[in-house]
Amino acid sequence: MAHLWTYSPPNWTARLLTGDLFTLSASEEPPVRPRTADEVATGRIVLRRTTDSDGGDNWLLFAPPPPPLLETGADPEDGDDNRTLFASPGPSVWINGWPLLTGARLLRDKDEIRMEGAEPMFLSTEVLARVSAFPGGARPAFCPRCRQIIESGTPAVQCPNPSCRMWHHHTPDCQCWTYAATCAVCDQSTALDSGYRWIPEETVP
Ligand SMILES: [Zn+2]
Ligand SMILES: [Zn+2]
Repeated sequence: MAHLWTYSPPNWTARLLTGDLFTLSASEEPPVRPRTADEVATGRIVLRRTTDSDGGDNWLLFAPPPPPLLETGADPEDGDDNRTLFASPGPSVWINGWPLLTGARLLRDKDEIRMEGAEPMFLSTEVLARVSAFPGGARPAFCPRCRQIIESGTPAVQCPNPSCRMWHHHTPDCQCWTYAATCAVCDQSTALDSGYRWIPEETVP
């Protein structure tokens, strides 16, 4: 499952993105939380999941620029003290070190998100192999290891490789996932306790 790595010195924490809509806040703990339906839309940084036609997840970051500051100041030409100035405040979010000026951005794996006054966060789309109940589908699914059907609700493991995603049995009688060192279809390791392969440690100054 995709997650956001957040930093609270000296530890990185992987916060699983369970859901479709999240609010990011530099001043709250945790800095990422599911967005509530009645939340006011302005002044908030929002992370949204969309699903494309082949079932892949896309993560969009919305960070509307803050409203311009309204000031009254001296007219630089004639010195009259009646000119209204619009001072646009700087961006409040940087992606990979670049200010987010457009208000929205499609994030990629390992993108750095930095909010004003906050530690950086990183999006990671890495998925861990774990045992869960096979959700089933419209058509019968066959385990690529034993070629037998996988009944919905039975313990199974989905290959975490984004270009594979094949489900394998993982019941006490049919441990098809861990039967070999790699997935039956691709070269993904079948270790169930290997942890995340990527954490953003080395990127922090
Ligand atoms: Zn099997
Ligand atoms: Zn695989």
